[in-house]
Amino acid sequence: MGKRILVAGGGHGGIGAAYMLAKNGYDVTVVEKNSRENMGYDWTDIFDKKGFTAIGMELPPKEMYRLKQDMTFIGPGKTTRLRQNTDPEKLEIQMERRDIYNYLIENAMNAGVKFIFDCEITAPVLLGSRVAGIETVQGTMCADLVIDACGIRSPLRTKLPEYFGVQNEVQPFEQFFVYRAFYNKAAETKEDRFAVELLRGGKLGISWVAAEEEHTDVLIGRFEDFDMDEVQRTLDDLRGDYPSIGLTKERGGQFVRIPVRQPLGVLVADGYAAIGDAAFMTVPIIGSGIANSLKAARLLADCVMADENGAFTAATLWKYQCDFYAVLGANLAPLACIKLLLTRLEPSDLDYIFETGILNAQDMTIDADSTSLAAMFAGITLDDLKIKAGGLLKNADVLKKIMRLGKEIAAVVAVCASMPKTYEQDKVLRWVKAYNACFKR
Ligand SMILES: Cc1cc2nc3c(=O)[nH]c(=O)nc-3n(C[C@H](O)[C@H](O)[C@H](O)COP(=O)(O)OP(=O)(O)OC[C@H]3O[C@@H](n4cnc5c(N)ncnc54)[C@H](O)[C@@H]3O)c2cc1C
Repeated sequence: MGKRILVAGGGHGGIGAAYMLAKNGYDVTVVEKNSRENMGYDWTDIFDKKGFTAIGMELPPKEMYRLKQDMTFIGPGKTTRLRQNTDPEKLEIQMERRDIYNYLIENAMNAGVKFIFDCEITAPVLLGSRVAGIETVQGTMCADLVIDACGIRSPLRTKLPEYFGVQNEVQPFEQFFVYRAFYNKAAETKEDRFAVELLRGGKLGISWVAAEEEHTDVLIGRFEDFDMDEVQRTLDDLRGDYPSIGLTKERGGQFVRIPVRQPLGVLVADGYAAIGDAAFMTVPIIGSGIANSLKAARLLADCVMADENGAFTAATLWKYQCDFYAVLGANLAPLACIKLLLTRLEPSDLDYIFETGILNAQDMTIDADSTSLAAMFAGITLDDLKIKAGGLLKNADVLKKIMRLGKEIAAVVAVCASMPKTYEQDKVLRWVKAYNACFKR
């Protein structure tokens, strides 16, 4: 074998791929800017535990996680509360982010993955049209393959030449600016223990308030950047309805970004493959990306292992692109259209959609397997359809917006289906132009 693989950034998918490749005899090193102790955030995450099994890792011990609570979605006018009712078998798990990292890193190290911590990556090393390594604060590191797991603001993806077709920048309304913290629990909450407020106060975004045993978890998300003053205003407003939010911040308290957009159009170049948030693999309407990153890790590792000569060109890595779109990407991309619809709705539109049953509690029950439109609306009955159609026909504005959504989804499905089966640069560049054009607000 004798090929050197560098994983740039310790993203979940990057470590997952490193684990699989090292187990199969590859020389893999993860280069991460944080120290080992500072990996991950000081909060919990909700994700599909099948992410672990996808990379051939056993599930963590049961005491390391619990089952997620059902969410209640509340419209801006507070006239409706749609409570999820998830099949317990399909509930996602909730786990401390630091424990997820501890578990992944420990398994990866045991499989032979090397880690370099406290080492910031600044740029890709380009040799002609090939990514041949990374520039870091500790010097240049060369590799036969660089796996970009550096997250949404990757210093690699953003610096690749345009002719690679790998989109560098995130566009407006494609990322969520988020503040998240755990506050002391000032009162008990009996109902709606996990409340998700949509477009509250007419603000384009969401807030969630989750009453946990030990604390109250508050997340504030917006499509535009905001500051601590806005956090304070939002907290004061939320406390009016949620007395469980105490005044003392106990954990978290960072501003971060989550991709809420279609997956990156082109994931690979000569010597380069992107994964996780670097490739925008989150579910666009909810921002969950851990399980998808791990599932993609499996596809990437399989592709690398299938490249017996270790050429790692865009052409040989194209199998990863095709497999990713077949298994995940073509399902995630239409959900980005729904996210765009949400940015176009007036608060009163959303209230109408909830009040009339155009969207009901069942539609909002997004479980571990609901990462496609088909899965979200799988249980829909004829009676449901009549209610939805009735609601739509009585509101011309909402109908127009939903019809536009329908056209956009049809276009995305068609473009995904026409993705080139093999890598020919001209064809790929034409295809990705058409793909990116589908997601205009
Ligand atoms: C507030 C919040 C809540 C979330 N909740 C959930 C949830 O409940 N469930 C879920 O599935 N997903 C959730 N997500 C999304 C999830 O975090 C990501 O989708 C998932 O972690 C995949 O991203 P990643 O690991 O590829 O990237 P990241 O988590 O961004 O990891 C990138 C890694 O690269 C490192 N890095 C970045 N730049 C450099 C550099 N220049 N040099 C070296 N290293 C670098 C970073 O330090 C980091 O370790 C949440 C995200 C946020 C921000």
